[in-house]
Amino acid sequence: MKNKSIWLDSKVNKLKSISNNLETDILIIGGGITGLSTLYQLSKNNLNAILVERNICGRGVTSKSTAKITFLQEKIYMNIRKFEGLEVGRRYLYSQIEAMNILTNIIKNENIKCDLEKVDSILFSKDNYNKLKNEYYFLKKSKVNVKLEKIKELNNVFGLRVPNTYVFNPFKYVNGLKQILKDLIYENSKVEKIEKKENFYLCHVNNKIIKCKYVIIATHYPYFIYPFLLPLKSHIEVSYLGAVKTDKTYPISAINIDENSISLRYFCKDKDKYLIYLYGSHVGANVQNINDNFKKIIKKFNFDYIWSNKDIITSDFKPYIGRVYKDDDTFLISCGYNTWGMTNSTIASVILKDIILKKDNKFIELFDPNRKFNLNKMINFPLNLLNSTKSYLISNKRNDNNKNIKYKKINGVNVAIYIDENKKGHIVLDKCPHMKCGLLFNSVEKTWDCMCHGSRFDVDGNCIEGPSNYDIKYKY
Ligand SMILES: Cc1cc2nc3c(=O)[nH]c(=O)nc-3n(C[C@H](O)[C@H](O)[C@H](O)COP(=O)(O)OP(=O)(O)OC[C@H]3O[C@@H](n4cnc5c(N)ncnc54)[C@H](O)[C@@H]3O)c2cc1C
Repeated sequence: MKNKSIWLDSKVNKLKSISNNLETDILIIGGGITGLSTLYQLSKNNLNAILVERNICGRGVTSKSTAKITFLQEKIYMNIRKFEGLEVGRRYLYSQIEAMNILTNIIKNENIKCDLEKVDSILFSKDNYNKLKNEYYFLKKSKVNVKLEKIKELNNVFGLRVPNTYVFNPFKYVNGLKQILKDLIYENSKVEKIEKKENFYLCHVNNKIIKCKYVIIATHYPYFIYPFLLPLKSHIEVSYLGAVKTDKTYPISAINIDENSISLRYFCKDKDKYLIYLYGSHVGANVQNINDNFKKIIKKFNFDYIWSNKDIITSDFKPYIGRVYKDDDTFLISCGYNTWGMTNSTIASVILKDIILKKDNKFIELFDPNRKFNLNKMINFPLNLLNSTKSYLISNKRNDNNKNIKYKKINGVNVAIYIDENKKGHIVLDKCPHMKCGLLFNSVEKTWDCMCHGSRFDVDGNCIEGPSNYDIKYKY
């Protein structure tokens, strides 16, 4: 069994790094699907933009997703309708349909080989038939071609079926864009600091300076706390996934709305057929032992690949896309996709391009990061605050019964030690540099994970996923 995402099995070429001072109009920070899609839209519109990625493009959250391109998105419409009513739910739905069309047209027009496949999307439930029925009426009234029926591919469980949606390989897609845009991309180039001057920015990357007029934050979770204060507006959800060889595949992707989350799709790799299966999603704050959660999914199949992933869940279930500061078009962000980043990053790329071009876009207001919170939505605000505090407190009370992990003080410094199969000790600092939360050891993927905001580090302390912008290496 390989302890990594099935998408990360392919090798890719590395691009150049920042090694000189540079000047550009627009700097995009982050080379996941958000950054690459935005660079694509900007360069198609002849805007002068470059992208910097601190590692290798596409190896972040994007390449650990189930990669469904669909507007049938679990409980999203139920949640948005509950807080903001039918009309806002419908506007979100139309944004996702539009994004799906834009994304699949890019793949077709640019001839990107990323295993795009047309499938039916299924939303199923064993326990919540009435919720399915409500969702059916909402979609039907919104003019979506949807059926409520027994799903034959899933042992006749009740579900909604929507045709003409897609699945693909997200890593191949991002790499397809990377090849098209390679002259504009710098890898192994980490932004450490952004300085705002009168009418330009100075961004510090690899000890060099990039001078630019616009900055776009596409880092998944922003590595800075202020401005934007994302920990107060969102929480992290962690999920466990696997891929297992199978004889039979069906042209469907499916997700449930019951308590134990299940999401699945199929994928053909060379001559092998795989079922990609997600089982179990939790608020980061509620995870005390990552390995216990892995044990639950491992019982389901004899997996060939196994991994975990995390995404940002926002207080009102809509992403934050647009201006960080009201009325300032020069500092933009896109994040908080509520586990639906393939479509949301695509619609974000068009919104961000339109803001810079000062063009109207019917979705700017819907996703405005400065949108007002109404009373209904305020309910989630203290909940997020509570989750942030809870994950901080829990993270510092570790419940790890792993014999290969030790916590110690060396020369007055708190460290965590992982002892590997060859009895070699790997010493790292025991707190996440982002907000000083404690770290849990993920013995399946061999990483130190922060359950507060999602940072991850390898056993030698290299930061492999943010928001932390720093390593946790212990210096002797
Ligand atoms: C379990 C799970 C399943 C999912 N399944 C689906 C699905 O089926 N369909 C769907 O639509 N969505 C899905 N999603 C959501 C989707 O995967 C994410 O929302 C999306 O991939 C986020 O993309 P991103 O580009 O914002 O982030 P990332 O892919 O993480 O990219 C951010 C990049 O920024 C870089 N970076 C960070 N800091 C810096 C810095 N200081 N300088 C330079 N670079 C930096 C990082 O290295 C990284 O490469 C799923 C999510 C989860 C958790």
